[in-house]
Amino acid sequence: MNQPKPLPSPATALPSDSQAQQTVQAEDKSTAGANFIAGIIADDLAAGRVQQVVTRFPPEPNGYLHLGHVKSICLNFGMADQYGGVCHLRMDDTNPEAETPEFVENIQRDVQWLGFEWDGATRYASSYFQQLYDWAIQLIQQGDAYVDLQTPEQIRENRGNFRQAGTPSPQRDASVEENLARFAQMKAGEFAPGAAVLRAKIDMASRNMNMRDPVLYRVLKAHHHQTGDAWNIYPMYDYAHPLSDAIEGISHSLCTLEFEDHRAFYDWVIEKVGFAKPPRQYEFARLNVDYTLTSKRKLKRLVDEKIVSGWDDPRLPTVAGMRRRGFTPAGLRDFCQRVGVSKADGVVDVGLLEFCIRQSLDPVVPRAMAVLEPLQVTLTNLPADLSVTQPRHPHHEAMGTRELTLTRQIFIERSDFELAPPKGFKRLSPGAEVRLRGTYVIRCDEVQTDEQGQVTGLLCSIDPETLGRNPEGRKVKGVIHWVSAEQGLPAEVRLYAPLFQTADPEAVPPDQADNANAFLQNLNPDSLQCRQAILEPSLRDAVPGDRFQFERQGYFVVDTDSTPERLIFNRILDLKDSYKPS
Ligand code: ATP
Ligand code: MG
Repeated sequence: MNQPKPLPSPATALPSDSQAQQTVQAEDKSTAGANFIAGIIADDLAAGRVQQVVTRFPPEPNGYLHLGHVKSICLNFGMADQYGGVCHLRMDDTNPEAETPEFVENIQRDVQWLGFEWDGATRYASSYFQQLYDWAIQLIQQGDAYVDLQTPEQIRENRGNFRQAGTPSPQRDASVEENLARFAQMKAGEFAPGAAVLRAKIDMASRNMNMRDPVLYRVLKAHHHQTGDAWNIYPMYDYAHPLSDAIEGISHSLCTLEFEDHRAFYDWVIEKVGFAKPPRQYEFARLNVDYTLTSKRKLKRLVDEKIVSGWDDPRLPTVAGMRRRGFTPAGLRDFCQRVGVSKADGVVDVGLLEFCIRQSLDPVVPRAMAVLEPLQVTLTNLPADLSVTQPRHPHHEAMGTRELTLTRQIFIERSDFELAPPKGFKRLSPGAEVRLRGTYVIRCDEVQTDEQGQVTGLLCSIDPETLGRNPEGRKVKGVIHWVSAEQGLPAEVRLYAPLFQTADPEAVPPDQADNANAFLQNLNPDSLQCRQAILEPSLRDAVPGDRFQFERQGYFVVDTDSTPERLIFNRILDLKDSYKPS
């Protein structure tokens, strides 16, 4: 384990992403470890079926990446890493209407931030469009594809169902020449969208619905972020994906279980086109985490409806949101490692994620004091300002110290004072004593209240004999944090609670299953609280991305909107860890 480097002052070089990341670089970065896929790869290498492991992470650039994708990223890059192979980043960009360059850029940024490096340049399925088109011609020539002129409704109706075979299209047995001519017309833009599709000619009675002549190409007159207006037809994902894998020489194509039924077509199309060494597809269970929404479509809904502030809202489990929230790449990788890879669907306790994040933060983030709900205290007998030196980290001397000043006027946390303390209350109450972190024991002599009886301030006296020493003849158990009222910095502090109040954010009553907005009823109305806090002055130069532990309050990060004039902090997590890893 690396010792964190000494921190120069001023605080501009405080740990941010780079330090949190550096600290884990010495550790095992492979997030995959032993799992059934590792077993398959090891066997393939041993048997000589595969010479080099090539995996890929293949997102559709139609939204931001989320926690579920992190699992896929860790698995694909982790396997390549573990077996001396490479991993590609490929945009499976076959749906231009839903895709944007912004999504492409953010996916690249997110994968990099997670600590992974893809092999070569970012790849695009769209850069294979010409090749995919040529193969479509080949399939037509082989009698393996035909142009269907049925309406989309007819195609759907004629597919049949699990009990009933499908009905062949009237064009299913058209000649190769007719099909080539119609496909050329599709390409030339002579058909309206929906008026013609290219379909594979497989088996309209297959028990696997995906084999009932799946659509390969559709007419779509849309501008594509990579290919511009070059195409009037676009390949379907199920056609482009396997062939893109094959073009790239992918050895192991890892995807989630919902693609299991697509594997037959995956193998069919690669074989028909004629690859000698086809990639093999292996499916693993999706990552589901309770209280966490991992559906791109529904996340997009929250963004589009402005229910959250954007894709990087710190309450979202998007990579961008988790980054802004202050989660660490190391913590996320550790989480994926602990979750493991299996074929069995399950739901992971969000407490495990929080546990991993806290574990990654505790050794590297410096400590500071911040009062989130200030109550003014006057130290009536403090003879003069007192300089106090405090370590930045209790266990890492090398992280250095910070200077604080105890002044006559300070703030303490409102909740650290009780007019009528419950039994066992160890903090401040009328006549009681408590230690101010790093300085004196103080006694509450007088309580100031307003006309409504609300406490507005406390008059306290210090015990001058208690600096660095226990008081004589009595025990003072409580220690509370404080900030100088004269020197403290005002800051906005944002506290987060789960965005959804139901363990399954997508659960809706059966009669609302068709209502795409029904899941919004599960939103937690109190997921964001803003506080006007007072921070210790050493935080003056903190910049976005810097993380701290505010004593007794949790881990915090400087928000991306923060400026020196208007400091904004996000609470990453509080300190309480209810999760016990097994
Ligand atoms: P969503 O289902 O949220 O819309 P998606 O599957 O459509 O996501 P893609 O961009 O196609 O998103 O996903 C890229 C890769 O990430 C795919 O290989 C997919 O299987 C994988 N992936 C998506 N969601 C999860 C998840 N929850 N757990 C593990 N892997 C996932
Ligand atoms: Mg999907």
